[in-house]
Amino acid sequence: MVEPPRRARVVSLLANFCWVVLDQPGPAGQRRLLCTRRTRLGKSGQAIHVGDWVQVDVIDWPAARAAVSVLEPRCLLLERPPVANITRVVVVVALVEPALDPLQLTRFLITAELSGAIVELVFSKADLLPAQAVEHWLERARGWGYAPLAVSRATGQGVPALQQRLSQPGLAVLCGPSGVGKSSLINALMPDLDLRVAAVSGRLQRGRHTTRHVELFELADGALLADTPGFNRPALPLEPQSLVACFPELRSQLSLEACQFADCLHQGEPGCAMGSQWDRQSWYSQCLQELLSAKRRLAPSLRQDDGGSLRQRGDRLEPRLAAQYRQPSRRRQRQAAEAELTLPDQED
Ligand code: GDP
Ligand code: ZN
Repeated sequence: MVEPPRRARVVSLLANFCWVVLDQPGPAGQRRLLCTRRTRLGKSGQAIHVGDWVQVDVIDWPAARAAVSVLEPRCLLLERPPVANITRVVVVVALVEPALDPLQLTRFLITAELSGAIVELVFSKADLLPAQAVEHWLERARGWGYAPLAVSRATGQGVPALQQRLSQPGLAVLCGPSGVGKSSLINALMPDLDLRVAAVSGRLQRGRHTTRHVELFELADGALLADTPGFNRPALPLEPQSLVACFPELRSQLSLEACQFADCLHQGEPGCAMGSQWDRQSWYSQCLQELLSAKRRLAPSLRQDDGGSLRQRGDRLEPRLAAQYRQPSRRRQRQAAEAELTLPDQED
């Protein structure tokens, strides 16, 4: 009997094959399948990413093997590392060590908002500040329109609350500056992660350890968390007007009351519904000025690279990375991965 195709989510990629988690468990409760990828997905130029929804067929239940036959349209792709169909971006910043920089935090929140996913804000290292000082930041962030959590890997404070939020169906990625405790938090959220990695045997284990791909883990049924932090450098939108959509407090205020001029950039001009008395006004202004001057610099031809600190990526600008931070090209990564991996024997 030929099995009908089944819907599944790609949770890890290894050269020419991938692990998927089925939307609905198999006849004996199976959830994970190791799949080859059909060449026609590749030929049509469709690269599969972690997080993608796919259809699998030629299912061999006892061997837990199948083949990916269809890649479903993707709604959101986070780049570097590539993760598709993200539901939540969790921005993590430390309250101290490194000291909280609200402008930097704002840039991260902008980047997260640009993704279109639900944005969660987490203040880490709460054990290093008196409760009152922690509450101060929570209160402030509530004023910006977020429902922030204070967490500590050291005391465990806030971890169950974060776990609960991330246990809603969907796919979450933690983002934020280096050193704020993202990896520690991922480990706290997925205590059996080490165990799982150790449980993989033989050739696959080698593959697992030599590739740098993101892997997704289930915190609850249908609730996935990426085991690798997402972006650790913020990006700004290209159009100054689109900055508004990245500030929840601007969105909500402007939905109540419109500015006098439709193209208002909300810098506290007369007739601006925002005025200049809001908490993040100066950081908003700073980001806006940066965009405006980048736009002037890049005009008239946006594809000209002037060697400045921003570069065009898709429809947004982001800081140029020094050469040592740039990722090796896709091709070089792929070659490296393929050189290190032995493929499973299943035919395409
Ligand atoms: P990442 O770069 O964001 O992934 O940060 P890491 O998880 O690597 O943590 C950076 C440093 O912060 C490490 O030395 C951790 O031990 C420390 N750290 C992480 N979480 C906490 C915390 O909740 N409290 C304290 N005091 N230190 C922490
Ligand atoms: Zn305005």
